[in-house]
Amino acid sequence: MVILTIRKRTAGLGVVSLLILMILGITSYTLAKHPNMDNWKKERIVIDKVETDKKVVALTFDDGPDPQFTPALLDVLKKHDAQATFFVMGKKAESHPQILKRIAAENHEIGNHSYSHPDFNKLKRDAQLEEINKTTAIIKSLTGQSPMLLRPPGGYLSYDLMEMSKKQKLTIAYWTYQQDSKDWRNGTKAPAIAGHIIKNIQPGQVIILHDGCPNSMETVRAVDMIISNLKEDGYTFVTMSELIKIGK
Ligand SMILES: [Zn+2]
Repeated sequence: MVILTIRKRTAGLGVVSLLILMILGITSYTLAKHPNMDNWKKERIVIDKVETDKKVVALTFDDGPDPQFTPALLDVLKKHDAQATFFVMGKKAESHPQILKRIAAENHEIGNHSYSHPDFNKLKRDAQLEEINKTTAIIKSLTGQSPMLLRPPGGYLSYDLMEMSKKQKLTIAYWTYQQDSKDWRNGTKAPAIAGHIIKNIQPGQVIILHDGCPNSMETVRAVDMIISNLKEDGYTFVTMSELIKIGK
């Protein structure tokens, strides 16, 4: 009787584990991999890394500008004479115009990360376009520069979005899969973030980090560690557009 019960329980657990694995598999598939992703990468409409022998990478920061974290991050980048790319939200740029201007004045690149960071899965095409256009207009009016890169919130991809981006002459700026340290997760400490990136570093990578999340002070500290360490190893840090040029 006892053995039979254990077997039943084990069988039940097996089915549950399988279901969990299936759900996890499906979720990561929809988030990280659109069925046409490989073609878009070949066409260079979506960039997640570039081919190069040079020790050069792009640090990218999402979800800012933030009045606390972004200036602290800019100080760290200045200290190391490193360039980066900031994928800003239009709404936050509007609230903190001086920070956006400082990013541009210090020769970093500014990319479009939508106006209010909605779930693009729940928006119609026109509403998606409005989120993108509104942000481009804000960046342009504050810095005089038109963004060349779009990082859709949550890494959302669709055929419609590709069409819209092509018309707007925006390249979709993805990130290198191995270089997502999930720095935004509360409780993730700077050494863990830095350790993940340093361990996985390869020439031509696009590193995704965040300067607009509650955990972002850890990211700022991590960036100091990452640059110090990788500079020793011969790496330089360029904007994402610069990296794309190098990769050609
Ligand atoms: Zn984001």
